[in-house]
Amino acid sequence: MSTIELTKRQEQILEIVKNNGPITGEHIADRLSLTRATLRPDLAILTMAGYLDARPRVGYFYTGKTSTQLLTENLKKILAKDYQSLPVVVNENISVYDAIVTVFLEDVGTLYVVDDDSHLAGVLSRKDLLRASIGNKDLTSLPVHIIMTRMPNITYCKKDDLLIEVARKLIEKQIDSIPVVKETAGGMEVIGRITKTNITKAFVELADDK
Ligand code: ADP
Repeated sequence: MSTIELTKRQEQILEIVKNNGPITGEHIADRLSLTRATLRPDLAILTMAGYLDARPRVGYFYTGKTSTQLLTENLKKILAKDYQSLPVVVNENISVYDAIVTVFLEDVGTLYVVDDDSHLAGVLSRKDLLRASIGNKDLTSLPVHIIMTRMPNITYCKKDDLLIEVARKLIEKQIDSIPVVKETAGGMEVIGRITKTNITKAFVELADDK
């Protein structure tokens, strides 16, 4: 809500409240020679966006928050689960050949590798697969667990982690994606993934005030 473009009237309301708050809706309306009903939607928007606060019987007052502060507040409400997509998971014993086919069929850049108990065992990126393909004649008999990045070196997150913290990990570790996991007895189950695409989508929606 914080990045909305304010209308001229909303700017006027903000000025009035800034200089005269706390002030009732009635009095704001008087100053603008408008009816209380006409102003209601504007007051609702300004309150929801966090510019104004309303107290019953006291009126409106200015919160003093800048749009950057409001943007940051909203950013800190976005969780991994709000933007995660479905993970593409393969067994650690499939061949590099089959993993490459899966990358194309599923249209993803990274595969998550699990053991026979469906617990997270490793990660396979495009470059891992390319590296294994160079000079390797028989990709059908090379199991992915030989070439994957393996536990405990996997960077992961939980569904309730802040998306901004997940984004930070992507940058710090210089990776394209992070599995969203759920801890279970004996290991971690992969329940989602956050990629740079998910972060980009969140970024755009935040700007579009969704
Ligand atoms: P690419 O290799 O296609 O550029 P990445 O930058 O994601 O893709 O991967 C770089 C390396 O980091 C690869 O060796 C990959 O196995 C590893 N990697 C990718 N994601 C993770 C992760 N979440 N945790 C640990 N290592 C990862």
